[in-house]
Amino acid sequence: MNLILLGPPGAGKGTQAKMLEEDFGMKQLSTGDMLRSEVKAGTKLGAQAKEIMDRGDLLPDDIIIGMIASRIDQPDCAAGVIFDGFPRTVAQAEALGRMLADKGRPLASVIELVVNEDELITRLNKRVAETKAAGKEVRSDDNEETLRSRLKVFREQTAPITPYYEKAGLLRRIDGMMPIDAVKGEIRSILKGRQSRASAG
Ligand code: AMP
Repeated sequence: MNLILLGPPGAGKGTQAKMLEEDFGMKQLSTGDMLRSEVKAGTKLGAQAKEIMDRGDLLPDDIIIGMIASRIDQPDCAAGVIFDGFPRTVAQAEALGRMLADKGRPLASVIELVVNEDELITRLNKRVAETKAAGKEVRSDDNEETLRSRLKVFREQTAPITPYYEKAGLLRRIDGMMPIDAVKGEIRSILKGRQSRASAG
């Protein structure tokens, strides 16, 4: 079963994806995490990515699509993938559609976590304070100025994806302002519904 988690930065996609991995045996693919690994490893792509990520902009579609295309063929993705932070543009969504169709691996659902921008800024400031208090390193794009750019990019380039999936009858919206466990419960009931429909043929 393949799933997309959509939503603005800080909506809780990563948190939910990690919990779903454990319960459904699916693999979380976070393009943001993949890019941060490249930065850490000091690769050429990492150097290019860091500059773009620190501005809050998006990496070029062809780079991201290529990264996902090679990743989803690996054995740990065979039972299904939770796409987290991908697709972020209509071109990425279309490329993913073609990729999955070619491989005969349909999308079960696209779940959008809806959270308002004030709440996202509050969450960011809280996360940064907690990370600093724990003596850990703060992500270089986790600051209010970059978050505001990321939110603008989300509104302009990523939000137009939702009508695309709405038309395909795949989109479900969840109130991402609810507590983590309540969001988790709603995602589970959507996926259980998809699973039983799939097994009923
Ligand atoms: P995230 O961890 O998902 O918030 O992503 C952090 C940053 O990585 C984003 O602000 C972008 O600069 C870059 N990035 C992650 N995923 C994508 C994507 N699908 N397309 C383009 N850029 C991306």
